[in-house]
Amino acid sequence: MSQKKKRRKKKYRLKKEVKRKLQIIAVLFSLISLIVLVFTAFGSRQKDAAVSQGVWLDEALGVPVIQQIIPEGSQNRPGMIRKIRWIVIHETDNFEASADARHHADYLCENKTEINSWHYTVDEAVIVHTLPDEEVGWHAGDQQTPGGGNMSGIGIEMCVNEGNDFSKTLDNTAKLVAVLLKQYGLSLKAVQKHQDFSGKDCPAHLLKEADWQQFLDQIQAYYDQLE
Ligand SMILES: [Zn+2]
Repeated sequence: MSQKKKRRKKKYRLKKEVKRKLQIIAVLFSLISLIVLVFTAFGSRQKDAAVSQGVWLDEALGVPVIQQIIPEGSQNRPGMIRKIRWIVIHETDNFEASADARHHADYLCENKTEINSWHYTVDEAVIVHTLPDEEVGWHAGDQQTPGGGNMSGIGIEMCVNEGNDFSKTLDNTAKLVAVLLKQYGLSLKAVQKHQDFSGKDCPAHLLKEADWQQFLDQIQAYYDQLE
């Protein structure tokens, strides 16, 4: 082999080696980028989870809170963790005498056919908690709208069953809402009607027979007691 040929071969080998080294550096760089990306994503998820940590109340300004949580894996409990932005006020629209807060919690825990869920049901005597506050529930009729009633709201149903004192129910709800606003650092502006998200006439009785602004004032008064 001539000197010239040898040199060319050596040059070729060197070129190949540089190429290989560059390939290794590129792979290493990609790996490091991937690790950084995964850690960043995990970090921000952790941060969101901390913001969305739910509370477990025993009572709300003297009104007892019963925990009867929908079983995990139920179609009513998608288990999606989110940030809480709204408190969404509803009425059950169920006028049967037996349709109190416990009855509705039983329905949510046992129902396997309808996709329907919310966080609290309130009657004249108790509040029943059925869904962890930090989890999405299906109550506002706005599907998975980002930042909407389902995706970012705590759904509260007020009982309207026969024999149930509605003004006491309203008062108990105002207490619960005040406590939740305080717990999650939300303002009165976070209190919304189901109607605000999907146009449904809900909470119908409150909007027809009572005064929404008066209800908000009631919440504010209880909120002030908490400070
Ligand atoms: Zn509603």
